[in-house]
Amino acid sequence: MKRLFACFAFVVLMSVASFAQSPSAPVLPYSPSLDVTSMNKTVDPCVDFYTYSCGGWQKKNPIPPDQTSWSVYAKLYQDNLMFLRGILEEAAAAKGQRNQVTQEIGDFYAACMNESAVNQRGLAAIQPQLDAIAALNSVHDIAPMTAKVTLPFGGTLLFQAGSTQDPDNSEQVIADLDQGGLGLPDRDYYTKDDAKSKEIREKYVQHVQKVFELLGDKPDAAKKNADTVMRMETTLAKASWTRVEQRNPYNLKNKMKMGELEQLAPNFEWATYYREARYPQFEIVNVESPKFYKQVNESLAKESLDNWKTYFRFHVADSYSQFLSQPFVDENFSFYRAYLRGAKEQQPRWRRCVQYTDYNLGEALGQAYVNKVFSPELKADALDMVDRIEEAMRERIGQLDWMSEVTKKQALVKLAGIRNKIGYPDKWRDYSSIKLTPDDFAGNIERAGAFELHRQINKIGQPVDHSEWDISAATVDAYYNPQMNDINFPAGVLQPPVYDRKMDDAPNYGDTGGTIGHELTHGFDDEGSQFDAKGNLKDWWTKEDREKFDARTKCVDDQYSSYISVTDVHLNGKLTLGENVADLGGEILAYMAWQTKTKDFHLQPIDGLTPEQRFFVGFAQWDCSNERPDDLRVRAATDPHSPAKYRINGVVVNMPEFTKAFGCKAGQPMVRLPDQICKVW
Ligand SMILES: [Zn+2]
Repeated sequence: MKRLFACFAFVVLMSVASFAQSPSAPVLPYSPSLDVTSMNKTVDPCVDFYTYSCGGWQKKNPIPPDQTSWSVYAKLYQDNLMFLRGILEEAAAAKGQRNQVTQEIGDFYAACMNESAVNQRGLAAIQPQLDAIAALNSVHDIAPMTAKVTLPFGGTLLFQAGSTQDPDNSEQVIADLDQGGLGLPDRDYYTKDDAKSKEIREKYVQHVQKVFELLGDKPDAAKKNADTVMRMETTLAKASWTRVEQRNPYNLKNKMKMGELEQLAPNFEWATYYREARYPQFEIVNVESPKFYKQVNESLAKESLDNWKTYFRFHVADSYSQFLSQPFVDENFSFYRAYLRGAKEQQPRWRRCVQYTDYNLGEALGQAYVNKVFSPELKADALDMVDRIEEAMRERIGQLDWMSEVTKKQALVKLAGIRNKIGYPDKWRDYSSIKLTPDDFAGNIERAGAFELHRQINKIGQPVDHSEWDISAATVDAYYNPQMNDINFPAGVLQPPVYDRKMDDAPNYGDTGGTIGHELTHGFDDEGSQFDAKGNLKDWWTKEDREKFDARTKCVDDQYSSYISVTDVHLNGKLTLGENVADLGGEILAYMAWQTKTKDFHLQPIDGLTPEQRFFVGFAQWDCSNERPDDLRVRAATDPHSPAKYRINGVVVNMPEFTKAFGCKAGQPMVRLPDQICKVW
């Protein structure tokens, strides 16, 4: 405890000395949801609306050296981390009587911040895992070894195992197996032939070699081992679904009995695996990528036991790197964040520790957070906005001239079935069974990971809990879940400058209204629309309507495929289709809801912008961003969201309301001819 106290004294001293942002009195800084100084009015809105709305912000907000990109959301997220840091330091320093939550988050954070203890411990933190790998006697031992060693990573080593809602009966939870086993961010990195991809592969092999050297291998042996890992991963990558293939939910639905799984991959001892990982009894498992498991099976037969030991040693060390001593942390940063994504500096330790706490104990930290930032009035406001946007969606469905009455009826059933979850969960997760201590960071990570994995697998055979959240209350993000058919807006995303109670309706509807509409539209995008009101994978469309719908989404696919992300890289219109459809549909719904709400108001211009212009500038300013080219390149391959500029300009070109608000003329870049406009919802 003594060392701990000293550690926190040091941190507080540093932050007092280094500015007014003392974490001991945390407040979230205020910035308005529409800020005219963030605009660049020298740019014509009809030529480039994104730069017109965000050019000032981009100038004022260079990317911090420790970040891979920077945006309104990222800034709010960082302000949030600073705020959470205050909560955590108070919790860690608290003496005497601490309640359950304060003890959990305080000790977890304290252990993470105790960098000297982490460094002193070094590789010893993962010695049991490395010993288990070294002790493998035959390929048959791999199943029980992976069952135990994967616990801290939530079941991911060689593949991803856990549970999922049954795609045919969303009230049931079944066992699930997904592909995995790679060290690069996507399977395409292993297969693409362009010069940049080749360079990335070379750098990756060097990274793998360095990890082996940190594990104690001589450079020659480390190099040989790195080549082995690369070769084994490449075989797995080739047998993996692409991200676009994964967007087709039918590709991922392959339910089978245990006997069938044992036939698919007999070289892996599944029964032993499931017993050792302490799964409850089950009959059905969904194998998301059968061809991947076929390859795992072949590789198990082909590769020597020594090669497998090499493969696992790397993956255990690489997955744990962030939680180990300085040389591992540095190597992890230098490949994954600096080389791949362009970050210039490592984030300060406190910031990483706040993120690990939020990730592992999000519903404990979330309780402390919402008590301070989320009022009942804020919740009521957000719910009112959600109601109005859903009403707009009902109206919109009624207006669609291309959809038959039969399909419309089903769409309305689905809309009525959506659950709206705002702010934070009704009941908080109980972490009291995890042993958390203030002096064992890697152990805390391991036990928290094991807790989460068991929480997930213990759902198998149990009814679905619809009150559950997949992200923490402090998260600056929102999501829709097609199998739950619910939208989730945590308290973290309902803060200025995203949602701003001090501001007029126009920018709030353009911004948060658009986000609500976005999540709602996900239920009806190319992927979400394949699930019904109950969250089952079931076609509720007539054949003709589906064809018309597909033609409409193809318009969006073609539009975004024509955009360039970075130098020679085009956006993948199919990977980003669902998000682009949601962006467009969301903004149309927000505009309708805003017009209905304010139809009897006599709205006046504010700050030189008409109400309609304020709606659209508010929309654009949700995503003012600066992006590093390296990060854009990774995202073009992996991220279903388009870069910021296209998330704004790609939407407004399809909205005649925008053209009218800014008086744009045909022939200008932000104006599409009526027959070019994409209309999905
Ligand atoms: Zn989305």
